[in-house]
Amino acid sequence: MKRMGDMLLSPNSGSEIMIGNTAIVRAMLEAGVRVVTSYPGSPTPEIAAAIASLPAEKNPMYFEFSVNEKVATEVAFGASVNGHLSCVFFKSVGINVAADTFVQLSLMELIGGMVIVLGDDPGANSSQNEQDNRHYAHLSYTPILEPSTPSEAYSMFLEASRLSQEMRMPVIVRLSTHVCHAKEKVEFKELIFQVQDNRPKFSLENGPYIPITAEALKMKRRALKKLEEFRKTTEKSCLNSVIEGSDKSRGVITAGAPFLSLQDVLSLSDKRPDILKLGIVHPLSEREVVDFLSSHEEVKVLEELDNVIEKEVKAIAYDHKLNTRITGKQDIEDWIGEYTPDKVREVLSRIWPDVVSPPGVETEPIELAPRPAQMCPGCGHRSAFYAIKKVLHASDISVADIGCHTLGYLEPYRVGQVLLCMGAFKRNCFWPFIIQ
Ligand code: SF4
Repeated sequence: MKRMGDMLLSPNSGSEIMIGNTAIVRAMLEAGVRVVTSYPGSPTPEIAAAIASLPAEKNPMYFEFSVNEKVATEVAFGASVNGHLSCVFFKSVGINVAADTFVQLSLMELIGGMVIVLGDDPGANSSQNEQDNRHYAHLSYTPILEPSTPSEAYSMFLEASRLSQEMRMPVIVRLSTHVCHAKEKVEFKELIFQVQDNRPKFSLENGPYIPITAEALKMKRRALKKLEEFRKTTEKSCLNSVIEGSDKSRGVITAGAPFLSLQDVLSLSDKRPDILKLGIVHPLSEREVVDFLSSHEEVKVLEELDNVIEKEVKAIAYDHKLNTRITGKQDIEDWIGEYTPDKVREVLSRIWPDVVSPPGVETEPIELAPRPAQMCPGCGHRSAFYAIKKVLHASDISVADIGCHTLGYLEPYRVGQVLLCMGAFKRNCFWPFIIQ
């Protein structure tokens, strides 16, 4: 069997079955990324594992796990302003830690290009919430490409790198848990190693880089112009596509993993609406949205988590005086959880029962033995929780932290009654200090 590192460094074009996270690393190598930084967290840790599989003497990329996401973002920024293509990746809530740095990136002239790979977690499979990080892109004037499959993760990373270098701006590739871990045969291109020029290319002539009052507004203006230019450059991009259905009066606008669930659900329907599949979810291609809305009587916006695309699509329809009936989220449950095929079936059947029937209960639910999450045998947290428990009084309240640490909440440890966020496992975060 071929070792992962050898496969990733293969100079030949070809195809391999791989998960989305691994496909991202092949794309990093092909794009010529020089510096990769991260802080670990699900759903993206396999990106680091794939980088670690590269034989050190052949690995053209510098990689580090920084002390946190903010520092990781700063190191990647440093590489980019020195003329080297860089990438930072982390889990969904990681961007909260990186936010202070992240929101400044679009103000800077990133001469080497910089791609931010965000692992969002609809369903909160391994996070303390299921925040929708598309809001951060709007806040910071940063474009987002959103793949549905590992193959798209590969091709969109390449495209994000190209656009970021060309336009000297940060570009986000937004993955979700499903796309990170789904497996698919990914077709990849030749890997051509570029001659490495490690000289720093930072120059004040590319600036300004200091957002003092006199410059901050100019820098914001430049960021807004770049975002608009990005919209124009990518209008009618092949990253967005229309999939023809059999029902020409109705359409669905969607992106990311929900697109796959939608295809699954519609595969047995004889009234399949057209689908506008967005690969670029910010900034939206106004022209494509207008074309799609104006050629359909009814359009459903199908998106996981918040109503980000829905609001934009409705605003575009208003501005263009289109009277297409647009349906977005209708119920609180529409804002919650992964859009699995069952969920998409339920959401669609509410408005179009003639297109898809509601999910049926075909069999009696099977009673399974409860299988609570467990810490790995030998995990260091086990002995730590054992020791902590020995010194806690029954009336003490202890504060948990994120990740596997939270499992201390379960039997047999029962340590941690409150969990706020990463790093909150500190005595001083819970006043008055209850732990004696
Ligand atoms: S349970 Fe412990 S050993 Fe297992 S992944 Fe979590 S921290 Fe690591």
